[in-house]
This record gives sequence, structure tokens and C-alpha cells, in this order.
Amino acid sequence: MKSAEIREAFLRFFEEKGHTRVASSSLIPANDPTLLFTNAGMNQFKDCFLGLEKRSYTRATSSQKCVRAGGKHNDLENVGYTARHHTFFEMLGNFSFGDYFKRDAIHYAWEFLTAKKWLGLPQDKLWITVYANDDEAYDIWTKEVGVPAGRMIRIGDNKGAPYASDNFWAMGDTGPCGPCTEIFYDHGAEIWGGPPGSPEEDGDRYIEIWNNVFMQFNRTADGEMQPLPAPSVDTGMGLERISAVLQHVHANYEIDLFQNLLKASAVAIGCANDGAPSLKVVADHIRSCSFLIADGVLPSNEGRGYVLRRIIRRACRHGNKLGAKGAFFYKIVTALVAEMGDAYSELQQQQAHIQRVLLNEEEQFAKTLEQGLRILEQDLVQLQGSVIPGDVIFKLYDTYGFPVDLTNDIARERNLTLDEPGFEREMEAQRERARSASVFGMDYNSLVKVEGETRFTGYADTRGTGTILVLFKD
Ligand code: ATP
Ligand code: MG
Ligand code: MG
Ligand code: MG
Repeated sequence: MKSAEIREAFLRFFEEKGHTRVASSSLIPANDPTLLFTNAGMNQFKDCFLGLEKRSYTRATSSQKCVRAGGKHNDLENVGYTARHHTFFEMLGNFSFGDYFKRDAIHYAWEFLTAKKWLGLPQDKLWITVYANDDEAYDIWTKEVGVPAGRMIRIGDNKGAPYASDNFWAMGDTGPCGPCTEIFYDHGAEIWGGPPGSPEEDGDRYIEIWNNVFMQFNRTADGEMQPLPAPSVDTGMGLERISAVLQHVHANYEIDLFQNLLKASAVAIGCANDGAPSLKVVADHIRSCSFLIADGVLPSNEGRGYVLRRIIRRACRHGNKLGAKGAFFYKIVTALVAEMGDAYSELQQQQAHIQRVLLNEEEQFAKTLEQGLRILEQDLVQLQGSVIPGDVIFKLYDTYGFPVDLTNDIARERNLTLDEPGFEREMEAQRERARSASVFGMDYNSLVKVEGETRFTGYADTRGTGTILVLFKD
């Protein structure tokens, strides 16, 4: 089955179970300052869980655009290194707002995954985790569904804080949360890794495909767990991961959609399509960047815009590593639109805009990228030990526009680490300089705004942190 067919089958299955099909919401969360980007299907339903909003339905299903590149769920640094993490992915979900609870949720998930009419997965490849003391879920799985105890795992709060377990899901530091049960797929003994909870769980053999969360609490800012008005269900299954399973491949990058993006990335860069991690990073990043721009984010020096800038620059650096000459990233948008434009019309509608924004950002960064890399090489030659000092990280950041995670990415490839406290000290010193400079009316690190008539005089400063838009009073 192709990914587009799997997406459709999921939505149809839950429609047959009385769910209303709801379109994906924007990647920019509406009215939720606690969230950087939409990171799960449940975000747009947050107020339904909290009982603050009533809709015409109590069951919903969706395929939601998600970005996990900052905030509580941040996978940026995993991308290119694991088989299963993307910055952008689609989350298939079914939701109950005070309607059904654990029993139906578990039975639906099992039916969709294993029934011949639907995905027809072999039952003995599926492993199940439940929250440590959730006997109710454990009993439904073992006594009703018939999963043998040998493939059931209880996961507790073993991360040093209450409710810090992988089986207690929370959208962020505050908001709806609850115990969950997760379904893993065993990709086979040839791949290194162990079942969840085992010492080898970080391997890629057992891959988490679907999380079913039993929403029961609202966590407040002071850590209090208030019961929700009604027990609810929120589930999420990564479309790319379940596609890999159904297409009999191991890594997400081998699925139909990514094959085409990898090919297009290699053509744009002018390198071989040989599975290099950097190529995967590029193929991954074109999705998050394009979708973020389509939803209205623009590269900038703060907040969401800075996260976008970091992702674009990371992609540029990986392309450069593969030998790209000149701007290449914006060229991959065409292939992305061909792959995903039917399901997400915003890509088609905004193709030209996305390409313009990417090209502009690439050209701007190209001016300092090569130079910054050269400087870094020189510094590394003289490096004593394995820690890149704070002043080097700062110089790359401030003069050459290298976001810290980009420098960290390079460090990781060479088994080096960063002196982050040292970098923070340099940043603080710079803020101090800026504060004293602002006495003279110039704080070069912030957008300079002047009241009254203004005239845009162009991009006045291409210092590493990006361009600074200067508006002068006429
Ligand atoms: P993992 O442990 O693999 O990082 P997770 O536990 O953080 O995943 P959840 O928050 O439970 O993920 O999200 C629900 C589902 O969304 C996961 O079971 C997985 O299928 C999918 N998913 C989560 N993060 C990613 C990602 N970065 N890329 C692709 N799919 C993802
Ligand atoms: Mg995760
Ligand atoms: Mg997990
Ligand atoms: Mg999970």
C-alpha cells in the first residue's frame, strides 16, 4: 500500500466507526502560546478535552501535519541518525471527547492493524506497552484481544520524575495528559535493538508505531493534575512509520514518498543517491521547511521564524557537505508538491512563495557558510581535547550565522562536544554590549522600530544572526 492509500484507509476505518473526518490544522497552533508548532493530532482538540469547547461530534479522526523541531517534543537532532524520526511527519489519529474510552480504543487499534480487510499485519510482530499500574488496559489487551503476556510490557515512571514515563503522554509542560498504551512493530532480528524497557530499546528493531493515550488529567502550570471533565481518547500513529511496515522496508526513508524526495534531493545537489545520512537530512528538512512556510512562517531571528531558519541552514550545510554548488534546496519543492500536493493543496497554491523564501534564505546563508566552515576547520586543527570552546561557537553564530545546533551537528560527526556554558557566557556578554550600545540608540540585535513615517532602506546588516531590518524615520 502506498502512503496515500494508508492515510485514506485509516480515515475511512474510523469513519465507519462513527468518527467525523476533520482536516489537519495549521502547523502554527491557533491561540496556544504554550506550543511552538503543532506536534500532535490532539492539539486542535485541546479545548474539547478540557471541556471548554463543545463540537457537533464526540468522535473525530484526522491526519495531522506535525513538526517536532523544538519545544517539548524535539526530534531535530535525531533526524538523519535514526530510522524513524522526522522534523515533519503526518500523524493519523482517532479521538473521543468523553465518548468511548480504553476498551473501544484498544479494540479499534487492533482491528485496524490486524484485520485482513484493513492492514492485515501479523499479530506476532506486534508488542504492546502499558503504563505500569494500568491493569485495566493490561487486561483488555491480554484477556480480550489475546496478546500473550510475553509481548506485553509495563513501563513505569523510571525517569526520575512523577509522570515522566514514555507511557504517560503529555502534549507539553501543561495541558491534557494521561497514561497511554503503545504498539511496537518488530522489524526482525537482523536489526539491532531490544523491546521497549530493555537496555537495547534505543535500537531500531522495535519501532513504536501507534500511541493510544487515555486522556484523564489537565496538568496546570504549578504541576497540579486536575481530572478532565470526562475520560477521553487521543491516539497518534506516524504515517511514515506504518508505511514502512506495510511496504516491507525498515526505515522511513525507504518508503515510496521518501524515495522520490531523496532522488530529487540528489539531483538538486548533484550527488549520488546513495543513502548518505546528509541526503536524508535534506529530504526530511524540505518537508518541514515547505510546510512551515506554507502555513505562514518566515525565517527570522526569533521564535518560530528562528526555528525555521535553523532547519533551512542545517539543510544547506548538509547539501554543502555533499558538494552542492550554489542554491539547491528550493529546487526540491517541485518534487514535494508532486508527492504531497494532492493531499495538501496549500503546497500547490504556495509553491512559488515557498521557493522564493527558501532561495532567498539560501543565498543569504551561502555568503557566510563556506567562510564559516573554513574558520571552523582552522580552529579544529588547533583544538586541544574534544570540546569546541564557547568563543568559537559564538564566533560562528555571531559572524557567520551558524545556529548552535548546526555547529553541534558538525561536532557530533567528529565525536566532539560543545562548551555550551561558555557559549552562553559569550552571549550574555554580547547582550551586555548591546545594552550599553543602546544608550546611543542602536540595539543591533533587535528589530529597530521607529514611530511615525518610515522608509525601508534595505537589509542593513548581514551579521551572523541574520539580517536586521532597519527602518529609518524620514
Ligand atoms: P519516539 O519514542 O519514537 O520518539 P514518541 O513516543 O515521541 O515516538 P508520540 O508522541 O507517542 O511519539 O507520537 C505518536 C506517534 O507519532 C508515534 O508512535 C510515532 O508513530 C509518530 N512519531 C512521533 N515522533 C515522530 C517523528 N519525529 N517522526 C515520525 N513519526 C513520529
Ligand atoms: Mg519522541
Ligand atoms: Mg516513544
Ligand atoms: Mg510515544
